[in-house]
Parts: sequence; C-alpha cells; structure tokens
Amino acid sequence: MTADTSSTAPATAARTHLAFEDVSMAFGDREVFRNLSFRFPPAEISVILGGSGSGKSTALRLLGGLIQPVSGCILVDGDDITQLSEQQMYAVRAKLGMLFQGGALLDSMTVFDNLAFPLRERDGMSDADIERRVREVLEAVGLEDAEELLPGQLSGGMVRRAGLARAIATRPLILLCDEPFSGLDPISARRIEALLVEINRRFRMTVVVVSHDIPSTMRMASEVLLLLPDGAVEGTPAALQASTDARVASFLNPDLDAAALHEVGRVESLPNRPHGAPTW
Ligand code: ADP
Ligand code: MG
Repeated sequence: MTADTSSTAPATAARTHLAFEDVSMAFGDREVFRNLSFRFPPAEISVILGGSGSGKSTALRLLGGLIQPVSGCILVDGDDITQLSEQQMYAVRAKLGMLFQGGALLDSMTVFDNLAFPLRERDGMSDADIERRVREVLEAVGLEDAEELLPGQLSGGMVRRAGLARAIATRPLILLCDEPFSGLDPISARRIEALLVEINRRFRMTVVVVSHDIPSTMRMASEVLLLLPDGAVEGTPAALQASTDARVASFLNPDLDAAALHEVGRVESLPNRPHGAPTW
C-alpha cells in the first residue's frame, strides 16, 4: 500500500490543479464527508452546491488549508496541502484569494487602505505599484469612486464588491468564494455573478464558488460538485441537468417536486417550503 502510493502520488499531484482524493472530515462525532473525491479544472469556474449544512463551507475551508481533514489528500496547484508544514503553507496561501462569509473589511480603514494592506504587508509592493493595483481592481469591480470611503459608508452590494476586490488584489491563482450572493438583492447578486465571470476570464483565475443558488450555478459553472445528504455527485451543469439520479433531479428542480406533491394534495404538509427560492 505504501510503496504504490508513494511512487504514483507525486506524478498525480503535479498534474492536479484542485482536488479532494478520498477526503474524510468530521467535527468530533459529526461526520461531514466520508471518502469524498472531486477534481476542479484550472482557469474555470467550479461551484460547490448543496443545501444548508451539507458541508459546502467545510469543503472550501479544507481547500483553503484553514482546517485539516481526518484523512485523504487535498491537492492545490500540485501540492497535497495535508502534508505541508505551516511554513510551506505560506506559499500555498499566497496562491489563494478568499471571499468568505462576513469576509471582513476593516471598518476603520478606507476601501483603498483595506486593499492596499495585504499588498504592503505581505507582498512588500512599492507605493506606486500598490496604487496602480488597487485602482485596477477597484475599477474591475466598479468601485473606482469609492476608494476614500469607509466600509460603513457602502451599501451591502458595494461591501461585497470591495471584499471581492480585496480577494483578487494579490492576483491569486485560485479564488475561493463562500456564498458570494447571500444577503444581496437580486440585482446586486447578478452583478457579483457577472464580476466573478469577468474575473475568471480576464485574469484566467480559477474560481470556486460555494452556493445554494441553482440558476446562477447553472449559468456560470464549468464543473459542479453537488453535496447531498448521502454522498456527492460531480459533473458539468448539462450532465447534472440530464442526470437520472432522483436525488439530483429533485435538488435541481425543487419547483417540480412541489408541483408533483401538490397534485397529490400533499403540499400543505410541507414545512415552510420556499418555492425553490433562496432562503435568505
Ligand atoms: P454548509 O456551508 O453547507 O451550510 P458547513 O460546511 O458549514 O455547511 O457545515 C457542515 C456540517 O458541519 C454542519 O452540520 C455543521 O454544523 C458542522 N460544522 C461546521 N463547522 C463546524 C465546527 N467548526 N464545529 C463543529 N461542527 C461544525
Ligand atoms: Mg456555509
């Protein structure tokens, strides 16, 4: 077992951009994943889709090296990050941009300084380069007129765009976004979606989005990992739409589900059904 693994793992790792291989994860007694494997392609948008509590944020935090799995390999740009020291993880984190829920902009700093901070502290860029880079990413998210504002002076959609600008300011290879649309009105959510697509194309950045929103997933994803209570399914949006797996079909078409149940007069018994709408 050990001889085979050690002779093949490095070759696999060198070709693998972003993947779980047989990852098991638990918090105490609570098992979240058992032998979960998936692979996301470079320079594309992949979406981790699933209901509340299905493990989406956990999967993203594992990819970002913020938590450790119980077992299995997590490959990021060729490295199995479960095997790296804190020191080695530093180089991996430099390849990652993260837009996490509540993803904190510092309230006491202007938008400009929030973006400049990691560039100055971590990358040691010159003032002129920082200014150029900050202006470029603020322009990319449509916030070029907001650089002197404090986060408290921005709307919810603008805060999210500023967080996105901050996450891409360091030019990461891979951008990880946890529920980037949650809490936004539909127009702001569509704007964030369009920005993620633009960032992916313009910077050829791999984008991983955690979401429970089916329509936007189907529009922007190249690859989808659907986390279900009893396992996971991976495929392109078209492959998932065509799936004959009843669990996949009912997740992707909650309205059909409700309509079918309504026909047999059982809809009243459904607890608080959101008619397929997002739950925020
Ligand atoms: P999702 O993002 O899909 O809503 P999460 O990944 O946040 O789901 O959580 C998956 C499961 O793991 C849930 O049952 C959640 O309660 C549990 N969980 C997540 N983080 C922790 C933690 N730090 N400690 C204990 N349980 C956790
Ligand atoms: Mg979550």
